[in-house]
Amino acid sequence: METKIAAITADSLSRAARIIRDGGAVAFPTETVYGLGADARNTEAVENIFAIKGRPNDNPLIVHVHTDYDISSLAEGVPAYAVKLSEKFLPGPLTMVYKSKGSVSPAVSCGLGTVAVRIPSHDGAQKFLKYLGIPIAAPSANVSKHVSPTSAEHVFFDLNGKIPLILDGGACSGGIESTVLDCTGEIPVILRSGLITREMVEETVGTCGEYVLKEGERARSPGMKYKHYSPSCETALFAADELASAVGLYDEKEKSGICCAILCESAVAKKLGGRRCLVLGSDPAEMAANLYLRLREAEKICRLLIAVAPAERGGVMAGVMNRLTKACRN
Ligand code: AMP
Ligand code: MG
Repeated sequence: METKIAAITADSLSRAARIIRDGGAVAFPTETVYGLGADARNTEAVENIFAIKGRPNDNPLIVHVHTDYDISSLAEGVPAYAVKLSEKFLPGPLTMVYKSKGSVSPAVSCGLGTVAVRIPSHDGAQKFLKYLGIPIAAPSANVSKHVSPTSAEHVFFDLNGKIPLILDGGACSGGIESTVLDCTGEIPVILRSGLITREMVEETVGTCGEYVLKEGERARSPGMKYKHYSPSCETALFAADELASAVGLYDEKEKSGICCAILCESAVAKKLGGRRCLVLGSDPAEMAANLYLRLREAEKICRLLIAVAPAERGGVMAGVMNRLTKACRN
């Protein structure tokens, strides 16, 4: 199958709609990462997404809809705090999990009985979703466990020959996947951290839990348990105060002929004295936006990526550290 990359125009949208209505999958941009979308009501189309990505069949998909879509046709029992959060943060990088009304295929949620709903703010995503007018199930448009894609070229690298069309909306501004928030209980609970932070949710509705998977427990958000976001090179991860050890490893490996690169924030990069480095940036939003791009660059330039965790914690850094840890731990 030939994979085309096309700017978002009336022509490419009409082609995308034909593919989706025929049960196929199309990649499209969002403000977080690129998604691989298919008709959420069509079980075969949804199963096809799992097959294309090689995604484990117990890791549910997020349903994407346009800004005027009636969420009550998908979700049941939307609590008052969820309405408040929707008003404040949607459209935007926040996915909310509700009890499902059963209007999308059960394959979307791998039989969990819930549905994760997202309204992306990206203009191209909105055009695509409005053109179709149907709920679109979409995971990130990468091969499962590989680094998520933040450009059309990243999608092409992973899925060339496997999908017919990539709608190109340029580089994603957010850079890490949406915050996933469980809205089925008394209070909202963060299942996956992202650009809408725990602090932001708390400030809006007063309280917010955070789900941490314990050893041996069945995951409430199955995606949490998988190694993820990983570059194809070898990796090592050091804490912010372990720079000397990171540099020691770099020097030792380079001496034995193994090409290394250090992934770190701007302030640390200045202390590396000419060693090969991949700079994340200096503030949390910039580091989130650059993370996956740098991980994909690492695959091209080194055999061992040595990541040094940024010093800042909390807020958006919770999401950045969650991805960095899953990408670089062995
Ligand atoms: P991705 O599509 O790669 O961005 O991953 C989607 C994330 O949303 C995964 O971590 C899933 O486990 C999570 N997710 C999707 N649907 C649900 C759901 N119904 N309940 C809990 N988590 C969900
Ligand atoms: Mg993903």
